[in-house]
Amino acid sequence: MIVGVPKEIKNNENRVALTPAGADELVERGHTVYVQTGAGENSGFTDEEYKEVGAEILATAKEVFDIAEMIVKVKEPIEQEYDLIKPNQLVFTYFHFASSEELTHAMIKSNAVCLAYETVERPDRSLPLLIPMSEVAGRMSVQQGAKYLEKPIKGRGILLGGVPGVKAANVLILGGGIVGTHAAKMAAGLGANVTLMDISLPRLRQLDDIMPANVTTVMSSRYNIIQEIKQSDLIIGAVLIPGAKAPKLITRDMLKYMHAGTVMVDVAIDQGGCFETSRPTTHENPTYIIDDVVHYCVANMPGAVPYTSTVALTNATLPYVIQLANNGWRKACKESKDLLLGLNVVNGKVVYKGVAEAWNLPY
Ligand code: NAD
Repeated sequence: MIVGVPKEIKNNENRVALTPAGADELVERGHTVYVQTGAGENSGFTDEEYKEVGAEILATAKEVFDIAEMIVKVKEPIEQEYDLIKPNQLVFTYFHFASSEELTHAMIKSNAVCLAYETVERPDRSLPLLIPMSEVAGRMSVQQGAKYLEKPIKGRGILLGGVPGVKAANVLILGGGIVGTHAAKMAAGLGANVTLMDISLPRLRQLDDIMPANVTTVMSSRYNIIQEIKQSDLIIGAVLIPGAKAPKLITRDMLKYMHAGTVMVDVAIDQGGCFETSRPTTHENPTYIIDDVVHYCVANMPGAVPYTSTVALTNATLPYVIQLANNGWRKACKESKDLLLGLNVVNGKVVYKGVAEAWNLPY
């Protein structure tokens, strides 16, 4: 199959959908890979590295879209890309159709086959192409929190791990899923006292088994959250209720219980945030302060570490890209239920229930 990898052009998107290692795997299997010049640059991969494994470099996105049977991307197509997509072309990327009616209609009009990373699903209901970004955001939340606890950026001025003779910081993590687990590992590794909260008792049991001794699990409830935030230095919001907005677990009136300079990192901001005072911020201007509490609410945290994010994402997407390239989308989706669930729009028709319901379209 002819596989095309355009350069991402959405604002601040530095990832690329295929690494040279991924291109190598495809070329080895007899596929042809076209990469737009500079596509890997911001993730640390040069055109030369792609050429060395047998990929070909094209000058423009148009050339890539014109020649490829399958386009592999990271972000949903933006307006400038709509007309580049061809009927019957397979486009494998994050689409998030339920959050853009315009994109949904543009892809219906394109008559392409749109396979969305975010709805590819394993039999255990996990979402294998979302997990890597939660891993990145979870680990990064502690790194960011540690930084904003420093005094010059209005934090409490406390080192997460303390030093001999000085207490370590207290870190509270709300939600013990992928983000929360990775945040807890990082904070514990730095020597902080970590409290990890969830509403699922089976999940808390599992976490208690696998976490180091400086991580304590506590049932999530309004009462317990108030007790914890009185002594927390860093609070990380990592809850998710599938298909719904995040619940507001820390309300504005609860900020009065916190020390001045406490840092709150709301990773769940992409689902509306789990603190009442959260509003989305950017990497250029990541924090703001309310009632002396520092808020960090960047909606695309993985975007700041494109090397790690690109490699993490492509580790997860590549097995699917290979299946699609080897078999074509029809056979690949017949053989893999994971991929079948990724189909959202096929030749002008919405085939994913959630998307049809979101925009009142026939399904
Ligand atoms: P997940 O489903 O793995 O985990 C969510 C956890 O929250 C579950 O264990 C669930 O039991 C728990 N939970 C639900 N209600 C709760 C409550 N009231 N109190 C405590 N825990 C509760 O989800 P995840 O992959 O860890 O993602 C967490 C959030 O991070 C999502 O909103 C996701 O979209 C977001 N995210 C953001 C970024 C970013 O860049 N900002 C990146 C990746 C993921």
